[in-house]
Amino acid sequence: MKPYVLIVEDEESLAQLLEYNLEKEGYRVAVAPDGEEAMTLASEEAPDLMILDWMLPKLSGIEVCRRLRNRQATRNLPIIMLTARGEEAERVRGLDTGADDYIVKPFSMGELFARVRAVLRRIRPGLADDTLSYGDIQIDRVAHRVKRNGDEVHLGPTEFRLLDYLMQHPSRVFSREQLLDAVWGSDVYVEVRTVDVHIGRLRKALKMPGLPDPIRTVRSAGYALEMKNGGSGSSEEDSASAA
Ligand code: CA
Repeated sequence: MKPYVLIVEDEESLAQLLEYNLEKEGYRVAVAPDGEEAMTLASEEAPDLMILDWMLPKLSGIEVCRRLRNRQATRNLPIIMLTARGEEAERVRGLDTGADDYIVKPFSMGELFARVRAVLRRIRPGLADDTLSYGDIQIDRVAHRVKRNGDEVHLGPTEFRLLDYLMQHPSRVFSREQLLDAVWGSDVYVEVRTVDVHIGRLRKALKMPGLPDPIRTVRSAGYALEMKNGGSGSSEEDSASAA
């Protein structure tokens, strides 16, 4: 799954240059020429990362940043601000508003890529890589293959995306609504119960003799991917009595 980057930049030549180079680096890219368009595109599909120019028509970069932070689906969206030289004070304000990093124009593509990778790695460790693993589960995002304990696991596209998302945040509990937003997209109308159906299929596909169920159901809260020896310390919630 290619990380989706939304570029918000009114300077057309710069926007095109960024788009061209980021696509070449393996990212999926969209461009918004102003702040309003940025908000529209971001609500259609939450990007994995936003590159946001400071000075924009219609809505300023800082206002876009503030609005994104106030929405559930984009609250944690990584944002790299682009600022012109001499906007030092504003840069600080940008970081206050919730930008994750900033880069001063003019910059080289190498510098930008390094920042993009660093931000993605820091915020979502799984996104920067072609393969992901957690406990005895491995995902190959390029070949679209999943293995558990070395054995092939066959998943439908939705289960694959669901597992990919859960593996990016092991041990974290997600509500059904959060999973819907992240995996199906917030613009799609899907019943919340649909999540249960796909979690059920994923759980069944990952089931192997002698191996524990890696998906934890947290009553009235949601689901988490969690294995005893899988990684970070497990929160001691009651998994035995969960469905
Ligand atoms: Ca500008």
